This record gives sequence, C-alpha cells and structure tokens, in this order.
Amino acid sequence: MLPALRSSRRSFVHSSRILYKAGTWGPGKPNIDTELVHACIEPEEKTGAILTPLYQSTTFVQESVEKYLEKGYSYSRTNNPTVKVLEDKVAKIEGGVGAVVTGTGMAATTIVMSTFLKTGDHCVITDCSYGGTNRLARVQFMKYGIDFSFVDFRNPKAVKEACIPGKTKLIFSETPTNPTLCLVDLEKIQKIAEEVGAIHCCDTTFATPYMVKPQDYGVDLTMQSLTKFYDGHNIGTGGAVVAKTQEQMDQIKLCQNMHGNIMAPQVAFNILQTMKTMHLRVRRQSESATTIAQWLDKHPKVTSVCYPGTKHPQKELADKYHANGIHGGMLHFELEGGAPAGIKLMNAIERPWSLCENLGACESIITACAVMTHANMEAADRLKVGITDGFIRVSCGIEDVEDLIKSLERALEKV
Ligand code: PLP
Repeated sequence: MLPALRSSRRSFVHSSRILYKAGTWGPGKPNIDTELVHACIEPEEKTGAILTPLYQSTTFVQESVEKYLEKGYSYSRTNNPTVKVLEDKVAKIEGGVGAVVTGTGMAATTIVMSTFLKTGDHCVITDCSYGGTNRLARVQFMKYGIDFSFVDFRNPKAVKEACIPGKTKLIFSETPTNPTLCLVDLEKIQKIAEEVGAIHCCDTTFATPYMVKPQDYGVDLTMQSLTKFYDGHNIGTGGAVVAKTQEQMDQIKLCQNMHGNIMAPQVAFNILQTMKTMHLRVRRQSESATTIAQWLDKHPKVTSVCYPGTKHPQKELADKYHANGIHGGMLHFELEGGAPAGIKLMNAIERPWSLCENLGACESIITACAVMTHANMEAADRLKVGITDGFIRVSCGIEDVEDLIKSLERALEKV
C-alpha cells in the first residue's frame, strides 16, 4: 500500500473512534434544525457508515436460549433496528418519551382508538378532521358500541360540554384541521382532558413538529401521518403515535404488536433520510403559501382565502402556537361562481401544479376535497364545516413561487 494511503486510512480510524464517543455534542441542547439531521443517528460501529443501516431481516439469531433478547431484537413485527431508530428520532423531535411508527397515518389513528377506547366508552372528536379519521370513527369504532361526539374544537366550551363524566376516555383533536385550517387551543383542550380523566391525542400532521409540538403543552399523545411533511417526497406512507408517559407508550406498543400495524424497515430507512430536510422544506413551503395567499386575496375572481399566516379568524392562536414564525404550506380558497368555477380551475391547472391527493411534498398539489380526501364524510357533515364542492385545497411545494403563481393565473383566466 502507498504510504500516503496508509496514513489517510490511519487518520480515518483515529477520527472515527473520536466520532463514536458519546457526548461529543458538548453542553446545551441543539436546535431542531440540527436535531432533524443528527438526533439518534450514530455512525455505524463496524464501518463508520454515516446513515443508519437498513436491517431488512424478519428475525434475529439468538446466541442461546438463556441469552434470548440480549441484543434487543427477535422478530421484526415487535422490533426492528432501523424502525427503532426512526421511532426514537420521531419521539425525540416531537418531545415524547417514545413513539411507534406504522404503515400509514390511519394505522396510527387506529392504534390510538383501539388502545384507549372500549365498548361503552365515549370519545369527543373534532367535527372537521381528515375524512378518513371521521370515517374510522363512524364506520369502524361506532359498531363496537363506542360513542363519538363530533364537536367544533374552536370552541373549548363545546368540547367540555360534550364530555360525559366517567365515559369520555379519549379526546381527539387536529390542528390545523384538514382541510379547513381551524386551530385548536391545545392548553385548554388538555386541561379539559385532565379534568374528565381522558387521554388527549392531537393530530398535528398539517403543522409538523417544526411548527407545533403538542407535548410542549402537556398533550398526552401526538399523532402524525408521516406520509406528509416527514416523508415530503411522495415516496411512501407512514404514521406515528408519540406518547407522553411510559405507561401510555407500553399500552400503544402492545396494541401495535397485537395488530401487526407496523412500518417496513425500507420505509423507515427512507423517512430517516427525508425528514432531515423537513425544516428547509416547511420554511420554503410556508414562504410560498404566504405569497400565494396574498396574491389570491387580491385576485378579483377569488371570494375567500384562508391561511393561518395572513388572514385567519384565529390569528392569535396561530401566532401563539406556531413556532419559527411560520404557518405551514397549506391554504384553501374559493372562487366567484362557487362549485362549478372551482371545479373548472382544478381541471384547468397545469404544471408545476398537480391535481391529486396527498400534501406536504416537494410537488405543489391542488386537491378537490369534496371528491377526493373528504369524499368518505357524509355530504351534510362536509357542508356543515364548509367543505363545498368548489373548495380548493392547496399544498405548496418547493418550486419557484413565481412559476406557481403564473400557472394559477393561467388557470384562473380559463374560469
Ligand atoms: N391525518 C391527517 C391530518 C391527514 O391529512 C391524513 C391523510 O391525508 C391522515 C391523518 C391519514 O394519513 P395516511 O394517509 O398516511 O393514512
């Protein structure tokens, strides 16, 4: 071997040993921008690989019967090393004691309802949520003899009044709501949950932990569809439940293991990489959403625009709860001429926009909620919360904002 090469290899070995040492961060807690990249990730011991390895293995060989589980792993439905790193990282970023990750966001919600509700119990849930959450409550859990009250969470008094002492075991909130962007006063709802002895779970998929961490306000459980801003690239689906206490964590983990509601290691590996840029994407998406909301607001064919960073009936709550001075990549608007005009625009929109479901990705997306994401709600319930047939939901991507506005302008000319 050439001497130069030999010495460079020596220095790698030397420096990698230093890197592996715990506590190389020094004093102080790193900012979330740093944590999104580095939290819970160590260079792999044998090779120094900077990325967490993908352990694509169903089972883990035990040294002996006596030493069963000595290395922590046995079967991937229960625990997988790649998935475990993602769970630890999500828990750390969201501020909980632990987390489980699942195959989809709906699987995460199913775990929450299955763990904390049984026949005869009652749940107070937001009357405006992702359509699938609403359907899960009505179609799946109601048939097990569990009662649900669908309540406007903008009014904490209504939430309190809906609670039934001794029966209400779960309060399920969402902030901002999909798609109407209603906000929740997390501290007030958590206080109500504590008073009635219920678990409070908040779905902050639209906000991301870069904007809102419910556990900073004492909320029991955080639920995330990782399919959205965590993945951020339209690559894969995933979900997470983050727990505030070890007791809740153990209950959730047991339910997950029994249901087999897990995430595949390959998906966990992908999200471990994509979430490292969440702060950059969410910042850019928020800036674009602000610019687009302001532009739409001045357009003569637009009758209403809703964005928590500009005009919003709960602006005070947005400013209280949304960190980092941003308000997310989601907005919605309606056009003069109602539903036919909205549908015309959604049919006319061209690139860089895409007409489809999903949100929080690099690609800018326009969604017709009444026929796509919220088609599984009862039509009357949808209209009650303002999701008309012409309701246009926008998820801003990371493209150039001027290109996005030019395309919107062309589509509006055709309406
Ligand atoms: N929660 C919210 C706020 C959502 O927007 C969605 C999906 O759009 C879900 C939960 C369900 O997530 P998934 O599609 O990953 O099952």
